[in-house]
Amino acid sequence: MHELSITRSVVAIVAERSLGQRVTRVRLEIGCLSAIVPDAVRFCFDICAAGTPAEGAALEIVEIQGRGRCPACGEEAVLTVPAGRCLACGTGHLTVIAGQELLIKEMELEACA
Ligand SMILES: [Zn+2]
Repeated sequence: MHELSITRSVVAIVAERSLGQRVTRVRLEIGCLSAIVPDAVRFCFDICAAGTPAEGAALEIVEIQGRGRCPACGEEAVLTVPAGRCLACGTGHLTVIAGQELLIKEMELEACA
């Protein structure tokens, strides 16, 4: 399960950027073509966050739809698999332009008391 090491990296980045303040919320964007399973990340997050500033933080995951562009005709289409064929002209394989990302979009820190 590669999500464990991915989630560990995410938690490490979040913990570093929080500068030791408690993190209350983290929002991730995960592309549908990234081969990262959001549920697995959710499962791993609490385990990885234990003992870090991100412990107990709410995790939001936004799934980003895959998109591709045809190098032959420029047509853009939704991709559900990484190597989709262009339906408009039938020649090219679509180049992935979105859906492979894993981004930490937002993090919220506890307000200073
Ligand atoms: Zn095409």
